[in-house]
Amino acid sequence: MSAPPLIAISGLKKSFGGNAVLKDIHLQVQRGEVVALIGPSGSGKSTLLRCINLLSVPNGGRITVGEHSFDFDGRHAALPGEKKLAQFRASTGMVFQHFNLFPHMTALQNVMEGPVTVLRTPRAEAEAAARELLRKVGLAERADYYPDKLSGGQKQRVAIARALAMKPAVMLFDEATSALDPELVGEVLNVIKGLARDGMTMILVTHEIGFAREVADQVVFMRDGVVAESGPPGVVIDNPRQESTRVFLGRFTAGDARATSQAA
Ligand code: ADP
Ligand code: MG
Repeated sequence: MSAPPLIAISGLKKSFGGNAVLKDIHLQVQRGEVVALIGPSGSGKSTLLRCINLLSVPNGGRITVGEHSFDFDGRHAALPGEKKLAQFRASTGMVFQHFNLFPHMTALQNVMEGPVTVLRTPRAEAEAAARELLRKVGLAERADYYPDKLSGGQKQRVAIARALAMKPAVMLFDEATSALDPELVGEVLNVIKGLARDGMTMILVTHEIGFAREVADQVVFMRDGVVAESGPPGVVIDNPRQESTRVFLGRFTAGDARATSQAA
């Protein structure tokens, strides 16, 4: 028997004013699955991630993450109460393009902050867990550094450790490497790869098509607020069925997305 999906999204709609940005999105993610969300700028990828952790309130549809389920009927934007919302947000760790670390806190303090203030974890326990997470992202030696003394890649790894400290059921990455100098991209992708190996459920918005092919179990191609095509990387990236997917992937240069599809 197959397990129920960890994340189930059905009929999800989101508009801003008269602008329908998400139109009837359906998506299921199994526990331990890595989903790469790709598509042109403005297709709704960030909005979808923001809806999944309720940073944006959908206008319609249903979102389930683990034991949390929310229905949005379109008439009133129904957000859960503050406590349930905080719990839910903690269960969906979000990592952004810009790291949003607290500048007046060290790496260690940044990672401890959520557990101490939101989860009420005792400080000693939160510190031990934070040090372990910094070790896991390769920054044990940088625990006492302030963000302005860290490189972009190091800051992003602290941001990942900070999200992990909340023991999320799923990690959501929104172009986590887009703001980095090219030579710093690899260290962040390696941390994400390690999480995939550990069985973390993840949704990654990424323009790193080669990386998506390598780590994703499922690739979702979005266009104009709909899922235009989804499936395993061998299909969506290497043998897309939709013309729009082909056109999008055609923008990536040889050595990345095209290399295999042209060889095939
Ligand atoms: P992507 O991440 O795929 O580039 P986004 O989800 O950021 O796309 O944006 C999709 C569309 O939604 C864009 O047209 C954008 O202008 C619009 N949009 C996103 N956020 C807002 C907002 N807070 N207010 C108004 N329009 C928004
Ligand atoms: Mg975006």
